[in-house]
Amino acid sequence: MVKDINLIVGAGFSGAVIAREIADKLGEEVLVIDKKSHIAGNSYDYRDENGIMIHKYGSHIFHTSSEKVWSYLKRFTDFNQYMHRVTAIIDGIPTTIPFNFNTLYDVFPETMAKRLEEKLLANFEYNKKVPILEFQKQSDDDLKFLANYVYEKVFLHYTTKQWGSSPTDVDGAVTARVPVYISKDSRYFQDKYQGIPLNGYTKVVENILDHKNIKVKLNTEFKKEMLECYKRVFFTGSIDEFFDYKYGKLPYRSVNFKFETYDREYYQQCACINYPCNYDFTRIHEYKYYLNDKSDRTVIAKEYSEFFELGKNERYYPIPKPENTSLYNKYLEEAKTLQNVYFLGRLGDYKYYDMDKAILRALELFEEVK
Ligand code: UDP
Repeated sequence: MVKDINLIVGAGFSGAVIAREIADKLGEEVLVIDKKSHIAGNSYDYRDENGIMIHKYGSHIFHTSSEKVWSYLKRFTDFNQYMHRVTAIIDGIPTTIPFNFNTLYDVFPETMAKRLEEKLLANFEYNKKVPILEFQKQSDDDLKFLANYVYEKVFLHYTTKQWGSSPTDVDGAVTARVPVYISKDSRYFQDKYQGIPLNGYTKVVENILDHKNIKVKLNTEFKKEMLECYKRVFFTGSIDEFFDYKYGKLPYRSVNFKFETYDREYYQQCACINYPCNYDFTRIHEYKYYLNDKSDRTVIAKEYSEFFELGKNERYYPIPKPENTSLYNKYLEEAKTLQNVYFLGRLGDYKYYDMDKAILRALELFEEVK
C-alpha cells in the first residue's frame, strides 16, 4: 500500500504538468509511469547524428494566447521567436496557408485578385477569420467562385487524406483551425506567444518532471490493480482503453512519418509544405528550421495519415464526430463514478487539444482536485 502517493499514467505534457502541480503545491509524492521508452509523449524530440532536432511524432510548434500557460512554461524553458509559416502547393504554385490576400495574388492574375480582394473587403471585416464551411455561404458570384476554389484546392483533398472524410463530414471546428483569413498576415498562428523551446520539448518535460517528489518509470504499463494502491490516479491514456473498451473503441487518426535524410543543406524553402492537391502524403516537414540547426545534411518527413489500429500505430487525433462524442460521453459518465481517478489530455478527454490547451487543462484540473 502506497496510499499517500499519486499515480500519473502518461509522461506527456498533461501528465507532467499535473505531476508537478501536485509535487510543488501539495508537497505530495508522485509516480509517473509511461509505457513508452521516453518521456514527453507525442511531443518527444531528440537531436539526431546530424545535430538536427527531430520531432519524432510530427512538427510541434508552440503557440498560445494564454498568459497563464506562457508564464508557466517560461519557468522551464526559454523559447526562440520562431513563427510558423506554411507554404502550400496549389496547382504547382507555392503560396501561403491559411488562404489570405497574399494567396489570392499568388494564385490568380492580378486584375482578378484585385476584384476578389475588393469584394472580400466589402463583405468581411479586415482580419476576420472565416471557416471554410461558413465562407461557402456566399451570394455574390465572384465570392462563390472563390469559396469553391478554396474548398476544392485547399480543403477537400487535404482533409480527405488527413481524416478519411470530406470537410463536410468532419466537425467544422477541424477545418476552422485553418480559416480563410481576411488579412495579409501570412503566419499560421496569430497567438501573442509563439516559439520553439530552445532545448526541445523533451527537455521541457524533463524539467517539469525534475522535482524531488516526482519519480518516473518508463516502459511501464498501467494495470487496473494499481488503482487500489494510490491516493489519486491521473490517466492521460485513452479513456476507452481504461474501461477495457466495454462500450466500443474510440476511433483515432494516426500518422505515419516517412523520414528521409539528404546530403544537402536544405530540402525545401521552409519548415512545412502542404500538398493539398497532390500526392498521398499531406505535408513535408523539414526539422532543422525550427531551431535553425546548422548541418550539411537535412532531415525531412513525409506525413501520411491513416486510421489508428491497436498494436500497429499510435493514437494522434481524436475524430470529432457526433457518434464518437456520444461514445466518449458514455465513458465519461462511467469515469465520474470513480473515486480519485481523473482523466485528462488529448486521449483522456478525447479532445483535439493543442499543447497549450493540454497544459491549461492540467493546470485547471489541479485547481479542481487539490
Ligand atoms: N487543412 C486543409 N488543408 C490545409 C491545411 C489544413 O484542409 O492545407 C484542414 C485539414 O482538415 C486539417 C485541419 O485543416 O486536418 C487542421 O489543420 P492543422 O494544420 O491545424 O492540423 P494539425 O497541425 O493539428 O495536424
